[in-house]
Amino acid sequence: MARMILLGVGTGVPDVDRENTHMVWDGPGGPLLIDAGGSTYQRLLRAGLNPQQLRGIFLTHSHADHINGVPILFFSIRLAGRQEPITIYGLEATLTLVQNVVEAFNLEKYTTPINWIPVAAGDTLPLEGGWTLRTALTEHSRPCLATRFENRASGQALTYSADTAPCQAVTDLARGANALIHEATTSEPFVGHTTPRQAGEVASIAGVGRLTLVHFSPHWTMPVDQALAEIRAGGFSGPADVGQEYQVIEL
Ligand SMILES: [Zn+2]
Ligand SMILES: [Zn+2]
Repeated sequence: MARMILLGVGTGVPDVDRENTHMVWDGPGGPLLIDAGGSTYQRLLRAGLNPQQLRGIFLTHSHADHINGVPILFFSIRLAGRQEPITIYGLEATLTLVQNVVEAFNLEKYTTPINWIPVAAGDTLPLEGGWTLRTALTEHSRPCLATRFENRASGQALTYSADTAPCQAVTDLARGANALIHEATTSEPFVGHTTPRQAGEVASIAGVGRLTLVHFSPHWTMPVDQALAEIRAGGFSGPADVGQEYQVIEL
């Protein structure tokens, strides 16, 4: 069994109930964090996961709302006793920037050793339990990777768009997936981001089983009811919702 747990579902500007969007893949081999926004250590605890058992962090891109939690996460994990290394995956450009951020914090001995593993768009990483993680380059103002988790035996799959305008690469990555987690930041089409209606179009074209919007704000994007109507207007008729914190998407 594997599942994605949403730890934050907001835009770059948090709402009272929406931290910066990040999530954790809870599958065989231990949790894999997808980005680190804000108080990730506490959010993992609230999600019922042990931060000490993190197998790694996958960073989609280097915007501040996706990486700001990295230094304090390593600081906390080390203070709590972990000495084994943790792997950080991401594009070369993302890793370079985050290395500079971690160095700027001058954590000295108060960090767990970090393995930096560069990932290129289109790479497939093997995960435990017969799962793979495949990536695709999104359309965003910085190089950014969408991800697809897929079980080689059952074909079960989940795709997360990360930050992007609607684009062919993400649509292809989502093709036939049981679940699509797609960003929906803006109310009107906007460079580098997606509207709820456009997310509905992507979900419809890709033929996914269900759609969940993240990187969304009832204040900055649009009211939730309107977003759900926009998904339908985009042509997606399957189960759809606006993501909430600690929501679990099972596969
Ligand atoms: Zn973002
Ligand atoms: Zn971004």
